[in-house]
Amino acid sequence: MSSSNTLPEWPPALTPEQHAQLILLSSTYALSHGFTLLPPNSSHPPTSAIPAPLSLLPTPFPRELYSLAVSLQPIYNALYARIALDWEFLDRVMGGSVSKVDTFQGELWRGWRQVRDELVQDKQLGIFRSDYLLHDPEEKGMEVKQVEFNTIAASFGALSQRAGEMHRYLHKATNSYYSVSPELAKADNFPANQPLKNIAAGLAEGWKAYGNDEAVVLFVVQDGERNVFDQKWLEYELLEAHGIHAVRHTFSDLANLAQVDGTTKTLLLPSPLEPNSPPREVAVIYYRSAYTPTDYPSSDEWTTRLLLERSRAIKCPSMALQLAGAKKIQQVLCEPGVLEDFLLSPGRPDVGFGEGAGDLAQKDVDRLRQTWIGLLPMDNSPLGKEAYELATIHPERYVLKPQREGGGNNIYRENIPPYLAELANEPRQPGEPEKKEAYILMELIEPPKGVCNWLVKGGENKARKADVVSELGVYGVMLFGEEGQAVNNGAGTLLRTKGRESDEGGVAIGISSIDSPLLI
Ligand code: ADP
Ligand code: MG
Ligand code: MG
Repeated sequence: MSSSNTLPEWPPALTPEQHAQLILLSSTYALSHGFTLLPPNSSHPPTSAIPAPLSLLPTPFPRELYSLAVSLQPIYNALYARIALDWEFLDRVMGGSVSKVDTFQGELWRGWRQVRDELVQDKQLGIFRSDYLLHDPEEKGMEVKQVEFNTIAASFGALSQRAGEMHRYLHKATNSYYSVSPELAKADNFPANQPLKNIAAGLAEGWKAYGNDEAVVLFVVQDGERNVFDQKWLEYELLEAHGIHAVRHTFSDLANLAQVDGTTKTLLLPSPLEPNSPPREVAVIYYRSAYTPTDYPSSDEWTTRLLLERSRAIKCPSMALQLAGAKKIQQVLCEPGVLEDFLLSPGRPDVGFGEGAGDLAQKDVDRLRQTWIGLLPMDNSPLGKEAYELATIHPERYVLKPQREGGGNNIYRENIPPYLAELANEPRQPGEPEKKEAYILMELIEPPKGVCNWLVKGGENKARKADVVSELGVYGVMLFGEEGQAVNNGAGTLLRTKGRESDEGGVAIGISSIDSPLLI
């Protein structure tokens, strides 16, 4: 869908005094409200925090396109649930060349294949985030285009809620001196957004579906994680709003701690604080780790993953759902008819399309597809050969993506041809597919130009004015796997804003600021 909206001149001019005041108020607000990260090399337990990287002002975003992205989320939730339930499709796409040339995806797929006939828990929980950029190549009308769909460890829900609250507060506290016009500063241009509350409610739905009031939610976390407050807020919300206890363990620690009862398959964890009490049962395993090769430094971690997968706990996500989030899947979905097959053909599991929604029609599928931009395979099919040529002749139009998560892994524009040449020179076993098959080629999304904002790096007390690009994330919660029992909800949004000069935008890798939209 295109929008005739043009973005307003942004940001408005501020006096040096107003600017200094915004820096002071934002950093004190962030510290007061846990809109924070741990500083680098923090002690354990930590004794200090720093404001999360933030934008001083919200960034204008077309309302119509924001609403479109939000409205599509339940359909995306259903789509990815159905992909995770379609073993034949996952085998075809992920069990092919990708699993032979990408060691990580190969381990994941082979591990899942090894345990999938022994699984004792039908229910699965998805906490998703679908990411978009505005696309305006010819300055003729904007669209939203999907960057990727995350099915594991989708982060920043809690901090995003805090960012929106902070921008509302700054607006009130400064008598909106930064608004260009009263029209732009209307209260309903700051959208209501509660991903913290909604994601915690999603975890609680999983916990309820498990059905044991004594059981806990296990947060599987990374060693040295700096984004802990984003996770702690979910724990507090679970306890306060739902009376549910959470425990945190690193993925590696679970090798020694986790036990699965041989008969009931319950996942049990010792409770070191209550030495005489029996181990605690886990209702939901919530991964904020286990998505990248460095989370598996040895084969022990894969053994642990399989142990957890075989247990009766509900996984968020299951290995199948993690596979469904691969970029290779995103590319195959773009092939003719695949989306229709998942969303319109009869015989697919009923996972619902959101509250009050009936069956989908072709127009809903078309609406969703309009948020896509060209994605091509890098294999030896005719399309793959065409992709190779395009990447060689017009690299400036493309980004090359491996099957990785967490930012910093893509190859952009002119770097693509030499990179492909290097891949072609890597040694190969007889019969092994070419290394390039582990990648997909994606057209570059071209965000509108001329929008600026002031960005403050985490822990700094000055702001940098930058020409910015904002990436909108839409969260979704999906409990599925048992016929007629699905929960399918949108769960709020995230806006991350980066300087235009940077291709990658991970907050965790220090480039993006956590922002909120000002709807226009
Ligand atoms: P990851 O799973 O590592 O986050 P992404 O697909 O989100 O991988 O890519 C990382 C970043 O690269 C995105 O946040 C975005 O800034 C940029 N990016 C990815 N795909 C595109 C694209 N097609 N056009 C422009 N920028 C892109
Ligand atoms: Mg990702
Ligand atoms: Mg991403």
